[in-house]
Amino acid sequence: MSTNNVIFLEVLEWLDQSGNEVCHRLPEKGSGEFKLGAQAIVRQNQAAVFYSQGVACDALGPGRHTISTLNIPILTKLLSLPWGFTSPIRAEIYFVNMKVFTSLKWGTRDPVAFRDKELGLVRLRAHGIFNIQINQPVLFVNSLVGTKPSFFIDELEDYLSQVIVSRLNDYLGEQLDTLLDLPSQYTEFAEGLSRELARDFSNYGIALKDLFINAITPPAEVQAAIDDRTRLELLGGDLPDLVKMKAAMALEKSAQGQSMAQGGIGMGLGLMVPGLLGSMGLFGSTNPPPNGGPTPPGKTTQKCPECGADINGDARFCPNCGHQILVYRRCAKCGKNLTPKASFCPSCGTPAGSEPLPQKCPHCGAENLPQASFCNQCGKPVR
Ligand SMILES: [Zn+2]
Ligand SMILES: [Zn+2]
Ligand SMILES: [Zn+2]
Repeated sequence: MSTNNVIFLEVLEWLDQSGNEVCHRLPEKGSGEFKLGAQAIVRQNQAAVFYSQGVACDALGPGRHTISTLNIPILTKLLSLPWGFTSPIRAEIYFVNMKVFTSLKWGTRDPVAFRDKELGLVRLRAHGIFNIQINQPVLFVNSLVGTKPSFFIDELEDYLSQVIVSRLNDYLGEQLDTLLDLPSQYTEFAEGLSRELARDFSNYGIALKDLFINAITPPAEVQAAIDDRTRLELLGGDLPDLVKMKAAMALEKSAQGQSMAQGGIGMGLGLMVPGLLGSMGLFGSTNPPPNGGPTPPGKTTQKCPECGADINGDARFCPNCGHQILVYRRCAKCGKNLTPKASFCPSCGTPAGSEPLPQKCPHCGAENLPQASFCNQCGKPVR
């Protein structure tokens, strides 16, 4: 960060030319001097997040704002500025794109390992589509953007895809004994997974609007066993030796034949779920974001998500019940909302700002995402 980057910013605004930029920093080269009295122009579907001393700490919703110690109270408090202070302050501003990003793709890069109680180790591919919207801009900048001058949707898509795949694997491991049961439990499974992911995404200040599972694809032999089982169930039969035999063959082949799955031959043979290609209606766009948002475009009041009181559109806390409306940071361990100044989580004592570490699998040594409970590589529990 340059120390002589003294730019007296008079008008702060950002126009996303590409439509693919999630977040953009001003000044692009690092922190600059913000003149109090400068104008910040925040467009519809944007929020402007102030970043100073290593933390994102305050946000302004759409509109034309004159920057003063009045409308960025948290930043002002953090810098211990006196009332009525007018000298420039050193800060950065991140414009966050609050529109709904649609048709993002998720999918397995390498097949994930699932330990099936009847079929043994099965390597699965899965893919689908998801839609997101940032609903807590300060938390988003704090947790994902870091100090990047610009952050594009494909980078975010990539990262969230890994989260989805990892969570899918966890959820399979926790909820399902065997893939043979998946067809009959599919709807329940997909809804449960969406709920888990909505919680995961909310830790980054992101609302998961829709999640579509287009296919979960086991190797072809396993798929054939599942089809046999489904057919037999229609006839009222139990799992016969024939299916067990086929499944055992599938295992042998998938042990030798990794290359087949990697060649993508398995694609498209999977559990196609036409019924779920439509919205599951869990996170419809007409619902308010689960954690409340900053100022919804064009509105000056909002409802407290905790007590339902009508409160000021730019309120940081609910005056009625004290609920934290604008989320700054979350505890990496327990997920509790933290205030900008907290150095420890009041709930579990974890130092604020500590990064969750990737989980190293105790069985095979593969690295999994911090929140993973089953290893993507070997399918065994990682904690
Ligand atoms: Zn309230
Ligand atoms: Zn905690
Ligand atoms: Zn492992």
